Amino acid sequence: MKISQKEEFNERLLSWYHQEKRDLPWRRTSNPYYIWVSEVMLQQTRVDTVIPYYERFIESFPTMESLAEAEEEHVLKHWEGLGYYSRVRNLQAGVKEVVESYDSKIPQTRNEILKLKGIGPYTAGAVLSIAYGVPEHAVDGNVMRVFSRLFLIEEDIAIPKTKKVFEQRVMEVIDETDPSSFNQAIMELGATICTPNPRCLLCPVREFCAAFEEGKQDELPVKTKKMKKKVVTIRSFAISEPGGKWLLRKRPSNGLLGDFWEFPQIEDSPALEISESLKNETGLLIEQRQAYTQFKHIFSHVTWLVEGVHAVLLDASPIPEGYRFFSEEELELLPKSKPMSKLLEQLKK
Ligand code: SF4
Repeated sequence: MKISQKEEFNERLLSWYHQEKRDLPWRRTSNPYYIWVSEVMLQQTRVDTVIPYYERFIESFPTMESLAEAEEEHVLKHWEGLGYYSRVRNLQAGVKEVVESYDSKIPQTRNEILKLKGIGPYTAGAVLSIAYGVPEHAVDGNVMRVFSRLFLIEEDIAIPKTKKVFEQRVMEVIDETDPSSFNQAIMELGATICTPNPRCLLCPVREFCAAFEEGKQDELPVKTKKMKKKVVTIRSFAISEPGGKWLLRKRPSNGLLGDFWEFPQIEDSPALEISESLKNETGLLIEQRQAYTQFKHIFSHVTWLVEGVHAVLLDASPIPEGYRFFSEEELELLPKSKPMSKLLEQLKK
């Protein structure tokens, strides 16, 4: 596509979008806070999965003040199952900043909004354009895929600085009169038609597409292979006291699944040394019993091979710091990571 075709292209793209767009709950609002919540949820998560989470979240935290004041554990509970929990912690921290320092009004310039916790270049552009109608780019992997094809951009999108090339190109083509619809239309095209296996015959902007013209749509975007993911074996110990309470520990605040409660566990220890490793790492002296489950859990950068094992505490005093016994009812109320929920589920079988 040539930049000189911008007007014709936008006319075609936007009229397709207005006719064909999916009816999504965050498209029925221009409340910048709601748009922010939806954009954070949609990072790394599919639209169908997000819808019920979004609705429940907005119902429980209808204003920025309500989210700013909420207990972190209560907020995490609303995110349970969505994964990438640092997203919601940052969202709450960013919202607190807006409430405290910006009189509950989300800033309307890229420079200012980027100062908020958890708002990166993509979310900044999405909130500014969709909620405030500011012509700003919002470039993620989907947008790079669509643009690499439209303009035959063959730079490697696995390299972070390539994103700038796309941001610049979006700024050259964006419809200044309706940047909200423009950005959403590109996202919609990437989600429904210009997918990894593009459905070019249904594409409303096919005649502008350089990759289609040259038959290169399946070769784009160029993306070098990612490094292989690390695989870690996790042995998790289900330890209960005679009253039926389970022993859990809180994960450190920073890092993977920060602040979530889980069964005591250790990583990558040869079976024979497990009790010793656990004693060294945690101060708990246990005896292992039979395994009750085994499964794989995939995070973005690491895969856990989880083995759930029954165990008994040989020396219960004192329970080390950071550990607590929880009843079944208390467990229900705790925010839990996916692997932890799965372990509990398997234990009940
Ligand atoms: S013609 Fe095909 S490759 Fe080009 S933008 Fe449309 S769907 Fe994507």
